[in-house]
Amino acid sequence: MKIAFVTTECVPYAKTGGLADVAGALPKALEKLGCEVKIFMPKYSSIDESRKGLRYNWDIGEMIVRVNGIDRSVHLHQAKLPNSNVEVNFIDCPYYFYRGAIYTNDRDEDERFILFSKGVIETLQRFGWAPDIIHCNDWQSGLIPLFIKDNYKWDRLFDKTATVFTIHNIAYQGRFSKSALSAAEIRGDLFYPGGPVEFEDSVSFMKTGIVFADLINTVSNKYSHEILKEEHGAGLHNILRARKSDVYGILNGVDYEEWNPETDKFLPFKYSMKDLSGKTKNKKFLMDHFNLPFDVNRPLIGMVSRLVQQKGFDIFAGAINELINLNAQWIILGGGEQKYENFFRGLPNYFPGKIGTYIGYNNELSHLIEAAADIFVMPSRYEPCGLNQIYSLKYGTVPVVRKTGGLADTIKDWDEEKQFGFDHGNGFSFYDYTSYALSSSVERAVNTFKEKDIWKKIQLNGMKLDFSWDSSAEKYLELYKMAKEKR
Ligand code: ADP
Repeated sequence: MKIAFVTTECVPYAKTGGLADVAGALPKALEKLGCEVKIFMPKYSSIDESRKGLRYNWDIGEMIVRVNGIDRSVHLHQAKLPNSNVEVNFIDCPYYFYRGAIYTNDRDEDERFILFSKGVIETLQRFGWAPDIIHCNDWQSGLIPLFIKDNYKWDRLFDKTATVFTIHNIAYQGRFSKSALSAAEIRGDLFYPGGPVEFEDSVSFMKTGIVFADLINTVSNKYSHEILKEEHGAGLHNILRARKSDVYGILNGVDYEEWNPETDKFLPFKYSMKDLSGKTKNKKFLMDHFNLPFDVNRPLIGMVSRLVQQKGFDIFAGAINELINLNAQWIILGGGEQKYENFFRGLPNYFPGKIGTYIGYNNELSHLIEAAADIFVMPSRYEPCGLNQIYSLKYGTVPVVRKTGGLADTIKDWDEEKQFGFDHGNGFSFYDYTSYALSSSVERAVNTFKEKDIWKKIQLNGMKLDFSWDSSAEKYLELYKMAKEKR
């Protein structure tokens, strides 16, 4: 099967969150299943061409893509995704993509991803390559299903091409003023109240993806049900409900070539289930780095996250005194909203010796925290899949999570499981979105940490689980087959 995988982030080229990890791993797993996969992403100025092995494609040369009535010059660069044969195609349009960030609040944010989406289709045409599936991810590629079925319908190349639309986070919807219609050359008669591209008087790229894709999925089973309800549907629950039988949930996998404590290139001390001593050495190493006093008997709690409300930082802030008073220490890495950045930046001064923070994005440090921490906290308000709790399991770092979305699908509460006579719990979890529920769960974890045998059992329960992409990729292949049948 031929798959065009369209994404705005991909490890190791550009990353702000989980989509990048998915894009860097799922195509490789699909290739192992016999698929031919080509990734398409924008060429951002932050991508170092020579270090990442990009080559200019002279055969394609210049492509002209019209956005908002202006012809833009577009070029193609290519590379091989490391450790695979997957071809990565970089859509190069400096006017739109050589900016300070992957996503911006610039006035032409809609135009940037209209150009990208059209650029992908124009490139497929130049290749003369008809994918069985165009796999679109999030609102940035949400117009592609419409383009294939309408704007580019004349091109018989795509007669049998089906589209799959993956929602990684329904809260980011790509909503723009009506001018986006003409910028994208979308037929005006598709825009009317309740119509296929209209949402609350705006043009919604995410709704368009949901309406026009042959099949839709999200990144965990639980989240695929949650978004059908008002609480988590971010206004689109009724649109999704109308297509309920076409909405699937497939849990993200993990690329264990990147995230494995036995081989992780960022760790000064590697370790495995058989010998966890390296984990303690990493803890000491990291605590020294943050000038925190090291104590084997006191748990180190880690957090790595975008600092946005979704991730539960309001209830975290509300519980800060209770959390800091626990017999534990904290290391927190994150970047995002100003108010949370300021909050975390100030904590080490308020609570010296108790907490270290790093504000910003730091991939190496994120690996080190996974390895060094004893406990990993994710109090998300909602979480489509969540990857850090799955990484934590492999690193013997016991997750404390709120029971929502992918967190609920992957973490089994030790004490709850015990009540039913099971000893396969792999973490701690809470349901109520309150500061109290959060701090009492963290407290349960901190108390259990003292019981060394039980703790080791919980760690090993997590470490032996396998969330590699193999089984999720098989599910995607099934989804692609179903989408093809629908086309
Ligand atoms: P989301 O996509 O909502 O941000 P996920 O849990 O799906 O959440 O994925 C987050 C990914 O981004 C993980 O790989 C995590 O390690 C990484 N990450 C988040 N914040 C940072 C940061 N400040 N520095 C480095 N990596 C980060």
